[in-house]
Amino acid sequence: MNHFEYRGGAFCCEDVKLADIADAVGTPAYVYSTATLERHYKVFKEAFAPRDVLVAFAVKANANVAVLATLARQGAGADTVSQGEIERALRAGVPAERIIFSGVGKTEAELAFAVRTGVHQINVESTAELDMLADVAKQLGATANVAIRVNPDVGAGGHDKISTGKSDAKFGVSPDMAIQLYKRAAADAHLAPRGLAVHIGSQIKDLAPLEAAFRVLRGLVERLRRDGLTVERLDLGGGLGVPYFNEPDPPAPAEYAAMVNRVLEGLDISIACEPGRMIAGNAGVLLSRVIRIQERAARPIIVLDAGMNDLIRPAIYDAYHGIKPLVERKGPGVDYDVVGPICETGDTFARKRSLPPLEAGDLVAFMTAGAYGAVMASTYNARDLVPEVLVAGDKFQIVRRRWTLEEQLALESLPDWLR
Ligand SMILES: *Cc1c(COP(=O)(O)O)cnc(C)c1O
Repeated sequence: MNHFEYRGGAFCCEDVKLADIADAVGTPAYVYSTATLERHYKVFKEAFAPRDVLVAFAVKANANVAVLATLARQGAGADTVSQGEIERALRAGVPAERIIFSGVGKTEAELAFAVRTGVHQINVESTAELDMLADVAKQLGATANVAIRVNPDVGAGGHDKISTGKSDAKFGVSPDMAIQLYKRAAADAHLAPRGLAVHIGSQIKDLAPLEAAFRVLRGLVERLRRDGLTVERLDLGGGLGVPYFNEPDPPAPAEYAAMVNRVLEGLDISIACEPGRMIAGNAGVLLSRVIRIQERAARPIIVLDAGMNDLIRPAIYDAYHGIKPLVERKGPGVDYDVVGPICETGDTFARKRSLPPLEAGDLVAFMTAGAYGAVMASTYNARDLVPEVLVAGDKFQIVRRRWTLEEQLALESLPDWLR
């Protein structure tokens, strides 16, 4: 469920007409709904009750500090994959003890930062990383909270580029290796192994692969405990899909939580989850204006002022985003190709999409753009970095202003020999 709907023919976010935001802020612009973010967090968290789960929002899905602060106020933690994301989470008010540090490429400096910050846990992805972390913690005279990321050899996810759980993916270690690393960590005075982690992919629409992965984790916990080791926590990762179009809905949080509770029944252990898309996807739209309609033999092309630099998912994942006119239109649809202004054929949002007849100057919203949208935006083609707006009830405010060409140019300079 989200808080974007037509009211009296005007497409609204909560109690604000999106056209008013487009007029005030210009287009393209991302708009997020506070009520939707809060609702998704609560629904996810409460689905596990009475079990208490650390819901660590995956910052890489939407790193805007205002979005993170909205979730932090609700009690959310943060799953992070760089020092920058840890700093964003801290700045947004997420306490260090609710921050998880994941990722295959953590540098020595980043590990040191995370240990000094005292994060909830560092999810270690390889033997080499465990050794580096042990050194770092020793130098700091500290003890690092560690979870071992297991690669359960289960494939899942909406696209090859977002599947992470097969054994040939770059993420995590095999179950047997996880046991070895856990024991190695337990024997190190500067490492405190707390548990195991998995994350098998994104935009997952079927519970079976997740269940298979969690069963692997359960088996490993039981093995480690039989060997006399303490295992306090499991980190189940993220990955739950969201509906992008008219296909069967992905599993609801309640079904997901029921499956988790079933798989882990009788196992005394605390749980963290790292949803990103599920929390933020439906909480955001990208507003854009039609520059012109280009007539063509095959079918007309809608040229928008948003491009792949603003929303890259269709270009790199063949992703589908619903497109809604901000003024409700009735009547038979027209098949359009919908493109942006960037000089790349990949800058195509949709082919042969049936939409109400549109004209130059009309405003549209790309739906389900709150996750992996603004975070992947760039200034390609010397365009302004897209702004972000947060709505709460009848209020809205810019939470990342447009980054103008002047500001981009201020970072650049001519070398001596060209002056
Ligand atoms: C990307 C990622 C997530 C979030 O995935 P979603 O599909 O957005 O829920 C969680 N954990 C890790 C380790 C990730 O890399």
